[in-house]
Amino acid sequence: MFLYEHNAKGILKKMGITVPKGDVAASPQEAGEIARRLGGEAVVKVQVAVGGRGKGGGVQFVRTPEEAEQITTHLMGRSFRGKPVRTVLVEERVEITKEFYAGLIDNRNTGGPVAIISSKGGMEVEELARRYPESIVRYPFSLIDGISMFKIRQISRRAGIESTDLSGFAQSLSTLWDTYRHYDAKMVEINPLVLTNGGKLVALDAKMVVDDDAMFRHRHLNTDAEQSALNERERFAKERGYGYVEFNFQGEIACAATGAGLAMTSMDLINDIAPQALAFFLDVGGRFVGSTGDVLELADMFPNLKAILVNRYGGFGRGEIIAESIVKGLLEIRPKVPVMVHLSGSGEKGAIEYFRTWEPKIREAGVVFEWTSQTVTGKESENATKGGIDIIETPVRKVMEWAGYEFKRNPPEWFPQRTDWEGKTRHLIKEALSKRPEEEYRKLAEVE
Ligand code: ADP
Ligand code: MG
Repeated sequence: MFLYEHNAKGILKKMGITVPKGDVAASPQEAGEIARRLGGEAVVKVQVAVGGRGKGGGVQFVRTPEEAEQITTHLMGRSFRGKPVRTVLVEERVEITKEFYAGLIDNRNTGGPVAIISSKGGMEVEELARRYPESIVRYPFSLIDGISMFKIRQISRRAGIESTDLSGFAQSLSTLWDTYRHYDAKMVEINPLVLTNGGKLVALDAKMVVDDDAMFRHRHLNTDAEQSALNERERFAKERGYGYVEFNFQGEIACAATGAGLAMTSMDLINDIAPQALAFFLDVGGRFVGSTGDVLELADMFPNLKAILVNRYGGFGRGEIIAESIVKGLLEIRPKVPVMVHLSGSGEKGAIEYFRTWEPKIREAGVVFEWTSQTVTGKESENATKGGIDIIETPVRKVMEWAGYEFKRNPPEWFPQRTDWEGKTRHLIKEALSKRPEEEYRKLAEVE
């Protein structure tokens, strides 16, 4: 869960890091009130779940309470990088002498946190990495052993933190580590951590992502930010516990599949011909009763959708049960666009019978529905990937036709035999996920 700046700052303050005085406002009047309490001069900052607010006009300096009110009216009247502005943080203006960067983020390669520090804070992380790569130090360490003060001082020195600032900076990073651990964070970041003209270290900005799987331990945390960071479709999927990736709101083909491998293969085939055609992917793996209804409801939210591909493989959840859920979903929701189902695996024979029985009723209901299975196509899997593509070709061809594209299968060597292949869809998924706040920082944390 992503926390708003003011929530993250509240946590940092509790843990012992100095943050500017201030408060959050939900209306221009409140913003004016807070500015008055701060003595008139203040900084007004939009509370949205994206970075780069300074550059985009989301951080405004005001001299009077009236100005705070006006600016807040203006900021709340528009959205910021696609996110509605519902609250602003009004805080004291701090005189900056130096700006540092301090962060911790989990890393999948090392299986633990990576400390990222820099003596050049303030700018966006990507710019920092580009302009001053030598000023950044990344240090992966063990979640269990933690990081010692000695090590923190050593890497801080390496990042160019001057000896006069070393003790304070090291103390802040150590507190940040306590925060990360205590709150089960996946990421905490202070950018900038500034030295004021009074010689104090103050966190001017704070970003924090708490691991969703640990949220049961942090129920008191405010979840508004996460909610407002998601669009209607993402919220729909999240509330129902699905993995969901949205590619293109204007897209024409929806894809639901059991598991990422089957999904990636189908989507790679589509992508190869029409990269813009995919609207979304919903992972219905391990889900049976009701999931088809969810796919169809979700699909209905896309204005240009022309076809839905439901690609399923029976495993523990047998084909008959999946088939029943599909038929029920189609009859209850009655999708406006055609639906193509592929169903193979355990319980396949039963599923075929079930589909044959119900097909006429579904058509009577005005739903365009086609289905296929491995038995029907007569294509046996030679191996999981190679056989898979043969089976999937039929349904993919169909949805592409419905969406108005001509399907052609590229030469066999096009299809990768290696599992570490970086397919087109994988890039698309990476791109879609990169819009999530922590992903920006993840790139910075990449260590071998
Ligand atoms: P973002 O990272 O989203 O751009 P920040 O909170 O880092 O937002 O603010 C952007 C810049 O605005 C900071 O780098 C800092 O220079 C300035 N700034 C933010 N808050 C204050 C403050 N309270 N006093 C003085 N300057 C501030
Ligand atoms: Mg910042």
